[in-house]
Amino acid sequence: ISSDESSRKKGSIGQNDEDAPEQFSPAEASLLAKVIRKGLVESKNDIEVQRRDPKSPLYSVKTFEALNLNPNLLKGVYEMGFNAPSKIQETALPTLLADPPQNLIAQAQSGTGKTAAFVLAMLSRVDSTKKYPQVLCLSPTYELAIQTGEVAAHMAKFCPEIEMKFAVRGEEVPKGTELTEHIIIGTPGKVLDWGLKFKIFDLKKIHVFVLDEADVMIATQGHQDQCIRIHKNLSSSCQMMFFSATYDQEVMDFAEHIVKNPITIRLKREEESLDNITQYYVRCANQQEKYNAVTNIYGTVGVGQAIIFCHTRKTAAWLSEKMAKDGHAVAVLTGDLTVEQRINVLDRFRQGQEKVLITTNVLSRGIDVEQVTIVVNFDLPIDVNKKADCETYLHRIGRTGRFGKRGIAINLVDSEQSMAILKTIEKHFNRKINYLNAEDSDEIE
Ligand code: ADP
Repeated sequence: ISSDESSRKKGSIGQNDEDAPEQFSPAEASLLAKVIRKGLVESKNDIEVQRRDPKSPLYSVKTFEALNLNPNLLKGVYEMGFNAPSKIQETALPTLLADPPQNLIAQAQSGTGKTAAFVLAMLSRVDSTKKYPQVLCLSPTYELAIQTGEVAAHMAKFCPEIEMKFAVRGEEVPKGTELTEHIIIGTPGKVLDWGLKFKIFDLKKIHVFVLDEADVMIATQGHQDQCIRIHKNLSSSCQMMFFSATYDQEVMDFAEHIVKNPITIRLKREEESLDNITQYYVRCANQQEKYNAVTNIYGTVGVGQAIIFCHTRKTAAWLSEKMAKDGHAVAVLTGDLTVEQRINVLDRFRQGQEKVLITTNVLSRGIDVEQVTIVVNFDLPIDVNKKADCETYLHRIGRTGRFGKRGIAINLVDSEQSMAILKTIEKHFNRKINYLNAEDSDEIE
């Protein structure tokens, strides 16, 4: 199991305990990663074609024009600001749009353009003259379904004839209704209800089936079985599109079950590194001194933004209240917020409305937001045994180098134990962590 897989697997723990280290569930983490990201995650790695039927050719495109899309759909793609297909799209799109249809399993980290790829395929496979559901997309949660629907609505801006329906909680339709929308985007439970229990649409007439965030899906209790039940009721000629951010045996077993004769493509995650990061540590006698160090640093942030990591929700709350009282505009993201609140916090931060974001480990992934120049470890990352957690350190601080921008990491050290943890981290990565006098933050490069 690679690191991204294991970190996705941990579920929500300590949701009611403000002293416990926090972790979001895979579905929650995935949603936040989507919200905080501004654009495409690019990768220097090449697409790996894992498996394909030697009889079917594999195409790739460098432009959207080469796909012979409906002109209004192409207009929608450009309207979204997409100039050229992303790496995963170069191979995924010709496969998804092939005639006869071709099944696809695609794995690439969040942010590489998977959603945009299958949404484009879903839209271009619709025959708008036929007034019944033809395309079905399953998402693990309400929020993720809505996100996908928003992308579809945006891309279909110039195709008003294409209609969509969400099959999620809160959506009710009177008994005996027959759905006339072309596309259904929903969660497994509701889709089962509508397709099998109430029969308000015919699963046999679905000719494109998308399984989005399959890894998150199987991490959610009961979802895998529901997906399999839905899948069983589809016609054998239905085109299957299967997407996952991770690639472990469980996900691939699920994929094999759902997708027959697929082309399987994979884009490996680019490794994070500390190459472009200057690391410092500050000696603090107590919490108050740590606070002073943070406010000194805050004063020097300048044009960029900062993220401050605390070990517990309690510390995060204490720190943010104190900073707010002192007149600083800070945002806080912890596990006790509702989903709407989390999205709101991250949206505002992404837009730069707050310069500082205080959070816990819930955000150790997906923080490669370009404008974040300083990461502060208010508490050094430790594992359950209170030992240095080097993996989390790298996730918090590391970059994949694609921005080529320099970043600064500042670690606050308040005890001999935390000094020992710092030394372990320094040794692990073999990168010097420089001493910084917090009184004199001009030393920060
Ligand atoms: P994933 O589903 O892999 O997480 P998305 O499809 O959501 O990735 O894409 C991530 C971000 O990149 C989104 O903001 C999306 O609008 C943008 N994006 C997707 N495809 C392209 C493209 N070809 N060119 C530019 N931006 C893109």
